[in-house]
Amino acid sequence: MEKKLLALLDAAKTGCAALERAAGETAAAWKLRWRKAQLEGELDCYLTEVGQLLYATHTGAPSDSGEMEHLLQEADKVRAALRENRRELALLRGVVVCDGCCAENAVENRYCQECGEKLWP
Ligand SMILES: [Zn+2]
Repeated sequence: MEKKLLALLDAAKTGCAALERAAGETAAAWKLRWRKAQLEGELDCYLTEVGQLLYATHTGAPSDSGEMEHLLQEADKVRAALRENRRELALLRGVVVCDGCCAENAVENRYCQECGEKLWP
């Protein structure tokens, strides 16, 4: 009887640890998805401004090229952050996304199995 009780307690402890681990992973994934939505919103804003400047040029109101360059550089930074975010989300699922072709690879691969791109720095 005592043995059964101890086995039951062990099973409960194992179950609790698994639940805590799952909750931790879910919270991390939720934060990354939230950040992804923020970054996508920022990228939309920059690209909308780029489009407005470009259209202003078309309609005869040339825009400041320095402003355009600044917007494009900011958009590049946000896209790099989105790539990193995608990589972190994939790692939570146990895969690595290739920057070259977007294929998912096993974490232990050093090179992409689709295109041969280096997966890890
Ligand atoms: Zn690839």
